[in-house]
Amino acid sequence: MNRPVTATLIDGKAIAQQVRAEVRDEVAAWVERGGRRPGLATVLVGSDPASAVYVAGKQRASAEVGIEGFSYELDGDASQEQVIGLIDELNADPKVSGILLQLPTPEQIDGAHLTTLIRAEKDVDGLTPVSVGLLAKGLPGLRPCTPSGVIELLHRHEVGLEGAEAVVVGRSDLVGKPVSAMLLAENATVTTCHSRTRDLAGVCRRADVLIAAVGRPRMIAGDWVKPGATVIDVGINRTDDGLVGDVDFAAVSEVAGLVTLVPGGVGPMTIAMLLRNTLQAARAQAGAPA
Ligand code: NAP
Repeated sequence: MNRPVTATLIDGKAIAQQVRAEVRDEVAAWVERGGRRPGLATVLVGSDPASAVYVAGKQRASAEVGIEGFSYELDGDASQEQVIGLIDELNADPKVSGILLQLPTPEQIDGAHLTTLIRAEKDVDGLTPVSVGLLAKGLPGLRPCTPSGVIELLHRHEVGLEGAEAVVVGRSDLVGKPVSAMLLAENATVTTCHSRTRDLAGVCRRADVLIAAVGRPRMIAGDWVKPGATVIDVGINRTDDGLVGDVDFAAVSEVAGLVTLVPGGVGPMTIAMLLRNTLQAARAQAGAPA
C-alpha cells in the first residue's frame, strides 16, 4: 500500500541550480571589478572511464559559471615524480585557484599522499590535513564539498541548528567527520555514529537533524526517526531497483518534517559547492575578505 508523503521534500537539484547561478553572477561581478578569473585545475592520471566522466563534469560545470578550466591528463604509467612536479607547478601558478587530483590513481601513484601536497589555499576539495585542521579549529578555510552541500540544504530551508540534537550516521573522512564538525560549528549538539554504535535506532530517534552517510541501502527505517525531524540522506547505493539512499524514503517521509530524495538531494550539491569553493579560493588568494 502506498502511504502519503507528509514530509516536505528538500529539492537538492533546484538548490544546486540556485547556488550555481549565484556563483556565476559572483564570478562575473568579481571579474568586472578587476579580480582575476577563478581557475580550476583537474589532474587525471590514467584512463579510468568513471574518473574521466567525473572530471569532464567538473570542467563543464566550471565553464558554465565562468571559471577557467585547466585539464591535465597524464598517461596511466606516469610516475609519482611527474605528478608531484605538476602539483608543484599548479601550486605556484596564479591562474590556478583550485586543484583537484582525481582519485583513485593508478597503483604506482600514492594519490592520498599526493593530495596532501596541494596548498591549503587551493584545496577546493577541502580534504587535505591542513584543511581538516582548519575546520576542526574553526578557522577560515576551504570545507569539503559534500558536507558543505548538506549544511547549505539545511540553511536554505532555515533548519534551526543552534542547540539542536544532530545525529550523523557514518564517520568517514569524506562525509561523516567533516559534516559532524560543521554541525558543531553551527552550535548543534552532535552525535557521530558508526558500525560499533550501540542502539543506533535509539540514538537516531533523538535527532532533530539526522544525517545518513553510511552506504547501506534504506538502512534508516521510519521508526528510527523522531516525528518532524529533518533527514538528510547522503547515501548513494546501486541496487536492482536503481539508485537508492541510506534512508527508507517511503517510511521516513511519513514521519519526518523535511527529507531529501535520492537521487536529486545531496548529490547535485557537491559540484555546486566545488564551484563556490573555487571562487572563494580565488578571492582569498587575492586577499579579499572571506
Ligand atoms: P564510507 O567511507 O564507507 O563510510 C561509511 C561509514 O558508515 C563508516 O563510518 C562506517 O562505520 C559506517 N557504517 C557502516 N555500516 C554501519 C552500520 N551498520 N551501522 C552504523 N554505521 C555503519 O562511506 P562514505 O564515503 O562516507 O559514503 C557514505 C555514503 O555516501 C555512500 O553511499 C556514498 O556513495 C555516499 N556519498 C555520496 C556523496 C554525494 O555527493 N552525494 C559523496 C560522498 C559519498 P565504521 O567507521 O565503524 O566502519
